[in-house]
Amino acid sequence: MRVLVSNDDGHDSPGIRALAAALEPIAEVWMVAPDREQSAASHAISLHRPLRVHAVGERRWAVDGTPTDCIYVAMNHFMKDARPDLVVSGINKGANLADDVTYSGTVAAAMEGALFKVPSIAFSLASRTRTWDFPHAAAFARKLVDSVVARPLPKGALLNVNVPDGPVKGFALTKLGKRSYGQVVDERVDPRGRRYYWIGGDEQGHENLAGSDCNATYDLGLVSITPLNLDLTHHKLLDELRGLRIEGHEGR
Ligand code: MN
Repeated sequence: MRVLVSNDDGHDSPGIRALAAALEPIAEVWMVAPDREQSAASHAISLHRPLRVHAVGERRWAVDGTPTDCIYVAMNHFMKDARPDLVVSGINKGANLADDVTYSGTVAAAMEGALFKVPSIAFSLASRTRTWDFPHAAAFARKLVDSVVARPLPKGALLNVNVPDGPVKGFALTKLGKRSYGQVVDERVDPRGRRYYWIGGDEQGHENLAGSDCNATYDLGLVSITPLNLDLTHHKLLDELRGLRIEGHEGR
């Protein structure tokens, strides 16, 4: 089995090291990852500047680009003649739950793998104690990979996995929940008298939604496994919009 490993925290982050090390005994591990942190890069791809790549080991490269750039370069260049059987991304330093998946570079690397029709899994460590025990999360990642080898995922399947702190008590198959942050825009003044802004805010909590990734990870202490779909079509709304009238234009 050939596995491509990437992430958004950078090629030398402890999370990706732990993930690669856990998979080495069961797979031929290739790594193409950003040369620095790219958290919250989402699914951006660099089309208007050169990408510099340097080798950091056997079958391992660091790219001065986004997680998506890494997967794209891996698939179309380094692994062009030896495409991976599985893409794994992470292990992210921090949860990727609920709406986080739309901002996450960790999840985007797995999305890009899925677009190449390769089963892909994003792993995140949802540590509330900030102890960051990546080997513990990597041990679970290895077991999940073992299980999808035994029962292969469909082509282009995409799983988003969040591992809580502490010994793994079990897992739950979940849907995306709802999470809120402070929505802070902090205005400050730089030494030259110009205003600048820091956006973001601390996590405020999550809605109590049964079966959600937030509930599983934070309330139940379970590993959350959410299958994601890259078809963003809102099928229910598509049906509801049938009969939409726009004056002077015919709808089909
Ligand atoms: Mn990250």
